Amino acid sequence: MVDELLKETERLIEERPLAREALTAFRDLAALMAEETPRMKGAPVDERLQDIKREEGFPLFARTDLPVDLDSAALLLEKFLTTLQTRERSDREGLETALRACEKDENWSRNLFSIALNNDQEALVDIAGGVNLEAQTLKFLAQMALTPSIHALRDLYAPQIDTDAWDYRYCPFCGSLPSISFFDKTGKRYMHCELCGLEWRFPRLKCPFCSNDDHKNLGYFDVENHEGFRVDFCRQCGHYIKAVDKRVFEKTGPMELENLATLHLDILAAKEGFK
Ligand SMILES: [Zn+2]
Ligand SMILES: [Zn+2]
Repeated sequence: MVDELLKETERLIEERPLAREALTAFRDLAALMAEETPRMKGAPVDERLQDIKREEGFPLFARTDLPVDLDSAALLLEKFLTTLQTRERSDREGLETALRACEKDENWSRNLFSIALNNDQEALVDIAGGVNLEAQTLKFLAQMALTPSIHALRDLYAPQIDTDAWDYRYCPFCGSLPSISFFDKTGKRYMHCELCGLEWRFPRLKCPFCSNDDHKNLGYFDVENHEGFRVDFCRQCGHYIKAVDKRVFEKTGPMELENLATLHLDILAAKEGFK
């Protein structure tokens, strides 16, 4: 699985020069993730409770209740920082400071993981500022460090989740919002979870951020020379989501990679005033 991911990353690095920097960093981290085997702390889910949750539209877990292996994530974060600070990056010093913070006090990374899972933007800016890193960079590293553990849990519970019968804008497994979306080969629309990577079916004409389905307030734009990619936006809440149309491509990369390989679309969307 990770070998495949690494191969796909290499392919996209060649194909998408604009995203080379983001993808190269991802490749370095994915190679380290491949070595990590998190402990599984999954517990059997009470089926009746699960039925109730599904009917009421609750995800199986809240982000903060995910039984992740924090020891393994902390170890991985240290490996990430150790590797990345040897690269030619403008934030090398910040990465080194973060590494020292991890080594000095194990609570530092625990606190960071809890902030990332809580989606606490203010605390994130604070802790990132303390080590002189961009908040987005630190959040990305924390999420990547948690990924092997979260993916293992997701795979354990996925057979119990009907991703075609879930009509909500957040992930049926972990309750997170989508990071990117896609149309499959038959034109069905799917959302890709920003945290656990689960993909669930979603109506074609509906905003995944505010549930607005008034087509007059929904729209999209695409980019010249980038057939197969577009940005869907909602005028009601001002949010946007990128979409990959798989019908246009013989092969697409895993969505977490496509998300990184289409950063130019995020820049365009921001210029258009969407968030
Ligand atoms: Zn999820
Ligand atoms: Zn909206």
